[in-house]
Amino acid sequence: MSYSSDKYLKLSGLEPLIVTPETNFVNVGERTNVTGSRKFLRLIKEEKYNEALSVAREQVEGGAQIIDVNMDEGMLDGVYAMTKFLNLIAAEPDIARVPVMIDSSKWEIIEAGLKVIQGKGVVNSISLKEGEATFIHHAKLIKRYGAAVIVMAFDENGQADTYERRIEICKRSYDILVNQVGFPAEDIIFDPNIFPVATGMEEHKLNALDFFRATKWIRENLPYANISGGVSNVSFSFRGNDKVREAMHSAFLYHAIQNGMTMGIVNPEMLEIYDEIDPILLEHVEDVLLNRRDDATERLLDLAESFKGDVKSNEKAIAEWRNGSVQERLTHSLVKGIDEFIEIDIEEARQLAKKPIEVIEINLMAGMNVVGDLFGSGKMFLPQVVKSARVMKKAVAYLLPYIEASKDGSTSSSAGKVLMATVKGDVHDIGKNIVSVVLACNNFEIIDLGVMVPPEKIIEVAVKENVDIIGLSGLITPSLDEMVYLAKEMDKLNIKIPVMIGGATTSRAHTAVKIAPEYKETVVHVNDASRAVTVATNLLQPDTKITYAKSLREEYDSLREGYLNRSREKNFLSIEEARKNKFKIDWDTFEPVKPNFIGTKTIEVELSELVDFIDWTPFFQSWELYGKYPAILTDEIVGEQATHLFEDAQKMLAQIVKEKWFTAKGILGIFPANTINHDDVEVVTSSGVEKFLSLRQQSAKTVGAPNIALADFIAPKEIGKQDYIGCFCVSTGFGVDEKASEFEKQLDDYNSILVKALGDRLAEAFAEYLHLKVRKEIWGYASDEVLSNDELIKEQYKGIRPAPGYPACPDHLEKPTIWKLLNVEQEIGVKLTESMAMWPASSVSGYYFANPGSKYFGLGKIKKDQLEDYAKRRNSSVELAEKWLSPNLAD
Ligand code: SAH
Repeated sequence: MSYSSDKYLKLSGLEPLIVTPETNFVNVGERTNVTGSRKFLRLIKEEKYNEALSVAREQVEGGAQIIDVNMDEGMLDGVYAMTKFLNLIAAEPDIARVPVMIDSSKWEIIEAGLKVIQGKGVVNSISLKEGEATFIHHAKLIKRYGAAVIVMAFDENGQADTYERRIEICKRSYDILVNQVGFPAEDIIFDPNIFPVATGMEEHKLNALDFFRATKWIRENLPYANISGGVSNVSFSFRGNDKVREAMHSAFLYHAIQNGMTMGIVNPEMLEIYDEIDPILLEHVEDVLLNRRDDATERLLDLAESFKGDVKSNEKAIAEWRNGSVQERLTHSLVKGIDEFIEIDIEEARQLAKKPIEVIEINLMAGMNVVGDLFGSGKMFLPQVVKSARVMKKAVAYLLPYIEASKDGSTSSSAGKVLMATVKGDVHDIGKNIVSVVLACNNFEIIDLGVMVPPEKIIEVAVKENVDIIGLSGLITPSLDEMVYLAKEMDKLNIKIPVMIGGATTSRAHTAVKIAPEYKETVVHVNDASRAVTVATNLLQPDTKITYAKSLREEYDSLREGYLNRSREKNFLSIEEARKNKFKIDWDTFEPVKPNFIGTKTIEVELSELVDFIDWTPFFQSWELYGKYPAILTDEIVGEQATHLFEDAQKMLAQIVKEKWFTAKGILGIFPANTINHDDVEVVTSSGVEKFLSLRQQSAKTVGAPNIALADFIAPKEIGKQDYIGCFCVSTGFGVDEKASEFEKQLDDYNSILVKALGDRLAEAFAEYLHLKVRKEIWGYASDEVLSNDELIKEQYKGIRPAPGYPACPDHLEKPTIWKLLNVEQEIGVKLTESMAMWPASSVSGYYFANPGSKYFGLGKIKKDQLEDYAKRRNSSVELAEKWLSPNLAD
C-alpha cells in the first residue's frame, strides 16, 4: 500500500514523533505505571512527585520514545494524580520532549489527562467492551482533544482471542471510528492482544501466530492504522527464566514488526538482540511462536530447563546445593524458605559448634543477614521473608533443648526487645504480625501481646520486661485516639521507651501532629514492614540513636508546624447552606422499587460459593506486593513472588473450602425508610422506628457540584413516596483465629498470616455475593443485572453498600444501629468492641442504597455547627461526637 505523507501517525511532546513505514519500532516506556511498578506506586502514594519524575526521566534517557502514564490504583485519587503528574512533566523539557500515553481504564482519568497534556498524545485505550454508544462518545471527545487512540480488540462479548475475532473487532471498530466519528485513520492504533504461548493449553498454541496474522491483515485492510501491544505477556509461562523470556521477546518482536507492528510496550532490559540468540534456542522459540510443530511446547520446556536460573524444581540442582558447606546449605534454606533439610543441617552445625548457641549467633545469623540484605535492596519480597522466618523458627526450636541442657548461662544476644500490640478496641493484626516476623528475622526479640490490648497492659509489660521499643498498630480511626492516650499516659509515668506507630489509619502527619507532642521520648511512624528493621536499628544503635532521635524530632516538629500553618480550606458552607445544595434526585419522576422482601433474614452460604467473588488485588497488598490482579502475576518485578504466593493461597483456599475451616454467617435487613430533616433516615421496623444519621459535605464546591450526604439517596418523607434502605453484616471469621493459632503453635507464621488474609478475602467476597443477591432477588431492584466478577470488583452495578467508618460515613457509631436493627450479635455472633471494630476480624457491615444515582464519596472536613447539630441528633455530648469524628473536623 502506498502511504501519503500526511497520513502518518504524528505525535508530539515538545518534539515531533512521526511514525513512517521506515520507522522500525517505537518503544513505549512502561515504568511510570502504578500497576506495573511497585516503586512508582509508592512514590505517587507518598506524594514524592519529584522522585516520580526521575522515573520518567530515566525512561526517556533510556530511549523510550513515548511514556505510558497509569494511575489506576484503588487507593489513589487517579484524576488528581494524573493531572498533577502530567502538569509536572510539562515543566521538564527533557521529559516533555516525548509524547505521553494516557493509560487508564477509567474515562474520567483519561479525560483529566487529555485536559493537561501538551502536544499530541495517545489515549490507552478504548474498546467496544461497553458497546458502541460509549465507544463513539469517547472517540469523539478524544478527537476533539486532538489525541491518537489505542483501540483494544475487545467487544461486548469479551477479548478477541482468535484470528477471526481479532480482525472482526478491529474492522468493526475501524469502520465506526472512520465513518461515524470521522476519526483520522492514521491516529488509530490497534492492540490486537498479545497472549502467552507455550502454556500447555491447546487453545493457546496459536496465540502468537494469530497476532502476527491479524497484524498483517490490519495493515493490508485498514488503511493507515497502526499496531501496538504489550510484549512481555507472550512469555508469561517462562517467568523466572529470563534467558528464555528475552529470546522470546526478541523473536516475537522480529516477526511482529515484519508483519507490520509499529509500536509496543517492552522492557528494554528484557530483550536479547535477535542475531545473538542462541540458534538452538531461537529455533525452539520460533517453533512455538509460529506453531511449526505439534511438540513445540514440550521441546521448548525441555530446553528451557537447561537455561534455568531458578533451581527449585530441578532435582539435579537440588543435589548440587546439597553439596555445599553446612553454612552454604543453611543460608540457602533460609533464603529460599526451604524447611525440608533444616534439621539435618542444623544438627550437623551443632556438632561442629563449640556451644549450641553459636549455631544461632553465627550460622543462622549469617544466613539471615543475606535475607536482610536481599530484602533491603528490593531483591526479595515479604512473602519470601516470612517463609525464611519460618525456617529460622524451626531451626531455633530444634536447638533450644540443647541450649537449655548446656546451661552455660549464655543467652543469645538479641538486637533488642520489641513489644508489639494492636491497641484497645481494634482487632486487626495482619500488618503487625508481618512486622513482628520481619523484626524477628533480624534478631529482634518480639513480645507480641496480640489484639485489643488495653493501655495499662502495654505499659505494665513494657516496664516489667524492660523492652527497648514499643510497636503500636491500629486499623480503624478510633485507634488513633487510643495511641494519643497511650502516649500521654507513658509521658506521665516518665517512661523512656521509643514508640513505633503503624497500621492502616495511621499516618506520618497524624503521628507528628497528634502523638509526638504528647511524649518526650521518640515517636516514629513506620508503615512499611520493609522499613521496620532500619528504623528499629536506628532507634537502638548506641552510636547513632541520639542523632537519629533528634533528627526525627526535628522532622516531626517541622511537619507539625507546616501542618498547623498550612493554608486551610477557607471556604465552608454553614450546615444550612450545605443542605440547600444537597444532591438532587428528581423524586417526582422516580419510583422506588418495592423490595420483594421486607424484614430481616439470616443467610447461610457454603464457602465454595464465595470463591469466585474474591477480589485478589487487596490480598497482594496485604503482603506489600503492589499491582492489580491478574496482571501482578506477570509483573516484571514481583510477578514470580506474586505467583508463588498465589499458588500457596489457592492451595490453602481449597483446603479451607473442602475441610470447612471457617463458617460463613450473614444477616441482612430491608426496611421502609424515608429521609427526615434532610440528613436522617427514618427506618421503620415491625417493632418501632430507628434512625440512621448521615453527615453532609460542608466545604464550598465549584458551581453545580452538590454537598452530598448519604440521606440524599433516600426519598424525603415530605414527598410522600415510600422508599427503602437495607443493611447487613457478614462474617467468615468463625474459625480463622483457631486455625491461625494452630499454625503459630507449629512455628508457622507464614500460614498463620495467610489464613487470616484469606479469611478477610472471603468476608469481602461474602459481602459482594450478598449484595448481588440483594440486587437481583431479595430486594430485586436490578433483577436483570449481568456482570462478570471483574465488573463486580469495579462496582459497575446500580446502588452502593457504604460501610460505617469509610469516607462517606466515617462515624463508627452508626454500627450499633445496624446491630440493633438486625440483632446481629444474637443472630450470628459478630460483636462490636469498644472502638466499634467487628469481632471476629473477618467481618464486613454496611448499608444498602438502591437508588441508581447513589454513589460513593468522601465526607471531607466538617464544621463545628454540623458537629453540634449532629451530637444533638445522636443524643450525645459534643465532646463525644468530637472524639469519634476527630479526623473529619476542620480546625
Ligand atoms: N473488593 C474489595 C471491596 C472492599 S473496598 C475487597 O474485596 O476488599 C470497597 C468497599 O468499601 C465498598 O463496597 C464499600 O462498602 C466501602 N466503601 C468504599 N468507598 C466508600 C466510601 N466512600 N464511603 C463508604 N464506604 C465506602
